[in-house]
Amino acid sequence: MKIGIVGLGLIGGSIGLDLRAKGFPVVGVSRQAHICQEAVRRGVVDSAGIDLKLLATTDLIFICTPIGAIVPTVKQLVSHLTIDTVLTDVGSVKTAVVEAIAPLWQNFVGGHPMAGRAESGLDAAEPNMFAGKAYILTPTDATPRATIEVVQRAIFALEAKYYQCRPEDHDSAVAWISHLPVFSSASLISACLQETDPKILALAEAFASSGFRDTSRVGGGSPELGMMMAQYNQVALLRSLSVYRSQLDQVIAEIEQANWTALEQRLQQTQVARPQFLS
Ligand code: NAP
Repeated sequence: MKIGIVGLGLIGGSIGLDLRAKGFPVVGVSRQAHICQEAVRRGVVDSAGIDLKLLATTDLIFICTPIGAIVPTVKQLVSHLTIDTVLTDVGSVKTAVVEAIAPLWQNFVGGHPMAGRAESGLDAAEPNMFAGKAYILTPTDATPRATIEVVQRAIFALEAKYYQCRPEDHDSAVAWISHLPVFSSASLISACLQETDPKILALAEAFASSGFRDTSRVGGGSPELGMMMAQYNQVALLRSLSVYRSQLDQVIAEIEQANWTALEQRLQQTQVARPQFLS
């Protein structure tokens, strides 16, 4: 199975590294010639270029561009493909992408690997990024079974944990555990920046350690990715943010009223619940 990758950044580069290591031939397309050369040099792809025509002979193509560029890329790509070519994307939001691509290409299934890091671009790509992590496909009733199976083969080669659900259910679920964390973490960083005493702010910056590193990581990542989450998953994100705000209001009230029993119960519940999300 010959693999194509459009967008040789963090996710596209990491997919290329692992699939090549598993023996799949990989062709890459980037908009920049120097990235193509660098991707070949690093063993991310066997060959690469700036022309989407290079993907004409591939069997499975991963679209790994920013969310806003996925549909325009597919529109440019499809005229170069044979009818059997399977397309998938890796975008963090699924409903809008799946709805827009369905009329353009039958052998398409939306996908989302739940792996990543704060850095972006080819330099951030690394091997084994997907091993043991969830990789979700979001077929519709019209998606051919054979299309799903082709992408599954690659997901198993990445050693990811396979899941399947409807695009809308994916977007509601990731609003809770991926998109809400980006904005709660970003709000944590901006709240710290509201400190008006420069001496206290300097001390806070100096004292920040593992707790701050953990809780600020996703809020300090790519602004482009966060913007795409908000724009393309607006309804589900707003719902989770308003529930989060109400939880914060309850915490504030419990602390203001010195209601230590309620606060302790809350922290006991969250301590018990956390492993359910991470096991
Ligand atoms: P990235 O490192 O910035 O890579 C995206 C690549 O797409 C860039 O290297 C760029 O390559 C290309 N690109 C940028 N703008 C483009 C445009 N307008 N048209 C065509 N190509 C363009 O980003 P990423 O983190 O890999 O994210 C890629 C996708 O993965 C996104 O859809 C995101 O939602 C999804 N995702 C991200 C994460 C994460 O943690 N970052 C996790 C799961 C899924 P060239 O400049 O070389 O063309």
